[in-house]
Amino acid sequence: MRAVLGLSLATVLVLIASCSDQTNPASTTPVVTPEEDAGTDGPADETSTVTGDPTKGILLEGTVLGESGPFEGQVLTLPDGTIGCAEPGKACEAEPQAAGVARVTIDGVISPGLIDTHNHILFDIFDNSDWLPKQLYQNHDDWTKDTNEPRYTVMVDVKQCLEDASQGKPVWCPTKFDGTGNLKCEMEKWGEMKGLAAGTTSIVGLPGTGLPCYQSLARTIDTQFNDLETDKVQTAAITPSKATADGVCANYASGKTAAYLIHVGEGLDAKALDEFTKLGTITTTPGCLYAPQTAITHGTAFTATEFAAMKAKDMKLTWSPASNMALYGATTNIPLALDNGLTVSLAPDWSMGGSQNMLDELRFAKQHSDTKWGGRLKSQDLVTMATKNAAIVLGLSDRIGTIKKGMLADIFAVRGARAAPYDTIVSASAKDVALTMVGGKVLYGDTSFRAVGAGGAACEDFDSCGTPKFLCVAEPGKTTDKLNQTYAQVHDILEAALKDIDVARPQAIGGNFAPVTPVVGCSVK
Ligand SMILES: [Zn+2]
Repeated sequence: MRAVLGLSLATVLVLIASCSDQTNPASTTPVVTPEEDAGTDGPADETSTVTGDPTKGILLEGTVLGESGPFEGQVLTLPDGTIGCAEPGKACEAEPQAAGVARVTIDGVISPGLIDTHNHILFDIFDNSDWLPKQLYQNHDDWTKDTNEPRYTVMVDVKQCLEDASQGKPVWCPTKFDGTGNLKCEMEKWGEMKGLAAGTTSIVGLPGTGLPCYQSLARTIDTQFNDLETDKVQTAAITPSKATADGVCANYASGKTAAYLIHVGEGLDAKALDEFTKLGTITTTPGCLYAPQTAITHGTAFTATEFAAMKAKDMKLTWSPASNMALYGATTNIPLALDNGLTVSLAPDWSMGGSQNMLDELRFAKQHSDTKWGGRLKSQDLVTMATKNAAIVLGLSDRIGTIKKGMLADIFAVRGARAAPYDTIVSASAKDVALTMVGGKVLYGDTSFRAVGAGGAACEDFDSCGTPKFLCVAEPGKTTDKLNQTYAQVHDILEAALKDIDVARPQAIGGNFAPVTPVVGCSVK
């Protein structure tokens, strides 16, 4: 989707890169005692083992998706949040830094964390039950019209109300959500939880101005609260003004911006296609946004001409097939983009017609390729789109997206067949995620791994479609910026707010927005 509110969101959807002093402190989780001691060849849910002290680091064992392909081996994560070793066999446990670390055995696949390069995270409190397009469209400007999709307009009103948006708030919005009563932190965290539960460690969420409450959970990678030292990612959901576009070009020249993710060509008609030309002509220096730092989100209307022009300037592409199919009945011609040599990432856009998480989007993309493109996209291609390519799109491939020594320990693991590891990832749903780790901190996983949960006793029980998990949301000792909120508290706050809204808003259009959409929806399409 895009251009959810035109002018009113222009100020919040265009983020200015800025520096950050966020650090990635070592976990202070208590020492762990041994639990099970099963082997790695029994039933998947009975084979986890945890021993050792996670404050010294974590040694993961299983089938690793390494830089050069899968191997049976180990990954050592260090207290500084980086990967200290990723090697076949038992080599990592011989490292001096492995002494006394927690050992976690995964009967499944250990993958780079999924990187979501296209989401609208404040909408993640909604799903298909709140709004779906009534018909197919040719252009993004059509379904955002109130006359075509009145329920969409109401849904946007609800979001603007709860986040206390500077513009576009409905007149019926209760004053309790004004100022410090706004729920932007809770809404944003909800989206991050949806990501974590599906192995996602970084999210481009276009959440507007960064807030300190974003610094927990997954990396809010397009804000300064990304747990990196800098933020060099800018985004735009609408065609920028000339001044803004010129500013992006200046940031390219100065090195301030390493990635500019902009919605272009969403739709099927000539108007959507023409947005690519506009991108080249809107700047004072023509074509300065045709540059390696520019990543086109969508490109649904693009032909070989646009893809060739993108390749000539080493531009990147982000593909969101589920959302495209729901709104337009067609999606970007990825085989053509690949024939032109483009680097492509895959991301869900949002939940309403799109996917609720990256794993759902991977499955959707595979099915689309199998049925429409003769199976052109293999599971490995798709996993690469969701990890390494996504890191390239963000200009962060030296930090995330690959499991190798020196990279950030952003990792997730899935239970399942080890002989075909990429297929295991692509066929997985959220309940299959055994563990999600951001910067070496385990924030989500099977209950058998709870001993390595970064929040210690503050981690909570979580049910993922019948599979018991833990989820670490509250950060022990953090009493400011809502960082001590638990999953249960965030849930209850959002649920109560949506109930309030359902009473406060005009009832003429559509049903209730409460309850809040689940972190993991179990009726996966
Ligand atoms: Zn979008």
